[in-house]
Amino acid sequence: MQKDGKFQFQRIPAPLLAWYRTHKRSLPWREDPTPYRVWVSEVMLQQTRVEAVKEYYLRFMDALPTVEELAACEEEKLLKLWEGLGYYSRVRNLQKAARELLVRFDGEFPQTKAELESLSGIGSYTAGAIASIAFGLPVAAVDGNVFRVISRLSEDDTVISDPKYRKYLERELSAVYPETKRDCADFTQSLFELGALICKPQNPDCKNCPLTGICGAYKNGTQTCFPVLPQKKEKRREEVYAFLIETPEGFCIRRRENGVLKGMNEFPSHVAENGETPESVLNGWGMYAFNEVKRKKYTHIFTHIRWDITCVWVQTDVAPFDSYALDEIEEGISLPTAFKQCLSILQ
Ligand code: SF4
Repeated sequence: MQKDGKFQFQRIPAPLLAWYRTHKRSLPWREDPTPYRVWVSEVMLQQTRVEAVKEYYLRFMDALPTVEELAACEEEKLLKLWEGLGYYSRVRNLQKAARELLVRFDGEFPQTKAELESLSGIGSYTAGAIASIAFGLPVAAVDGNVFRVISRLSEDDTVISDPKYRKYLERELSAVYPETKRDCADFTQSLFELGALICKPQNPDCKNCPLTGICGAYKNGTQTCFPVLPQKKEKRREEVYAFLIETPEGFCIRRRENGVLKGMNEFPSHVAENGETPESVLNGWGMYAFNEVKRKKYTHIFTHIRWDITCVWVQTDVAPFDSYALDEIEEGISLPTAFKQCLSILQ
């Protein structure tokens, strides 16, 4: 709920666009913003920092510059291109949607938000970003930056996870979009940019903000009260054993069949229950003759789960799973970060 009546959204675009034109960062996806390039960048940027995304983005575009090439890419190559970014369902959905684009839209991106949202993995935010940035349509894209900026401007204490709040912001912002295509594209990005560079989560740089004149939080010194975030749930904790099983051919790798990271490669792992030990897990895989070299503990945090991992390096002559040479694992096989960290035990 807003503190001082209804906020005047129409006062945002002019000062923000003027600021954006002189302060925007040069980012690879801002050059030649085709729907495909905008889409891939937005999917990569979900849950990942801009600086971390740059290199991945350039590599991905170099390898898969078109919808057709993304649709036809072999899974292992695709996962390798994504390795380290995490949240692998994002890249699987990218490929699924690329195939849908070929079948349903002749490989061309549809130009309405509703049709964009009908593609796998494309939600309201990504559809808004593609529609406005690539097609210059007056369609808002509300991400965490936008929630933060607008909730501070309007001192709105609605919890940002409330779906009605997203709908409200989409509606109010879309109604004040500028008239030209270029301005529409820039307006979406100017909101992102203000949130990233000035109206940051901690210590917003209000002195250099182009919107101080219309900002309720600035006027009342309430910047730290907004946005109102949902209460964090406690993460479930799991005790995981991950095994570097060294055989004469290399190290064992297998595909995860269920649970977190289902369908991804792993060093064979097991969630420990009821007093299971690494030895009992190995015995369960038919391994009785092995030599333990080393153990190392580390933690990996997923969105809802915390893994306390014990990595156990063992040597054996009889491999319970397929083995691969270390070079091949490092260069050609995609491994989620949770497992890649196991390799540090070898140093
Ligand atoms: S004045 Fe400060 S709190 Fe308000 S939008 Fe600008 S940076 Fe954010």
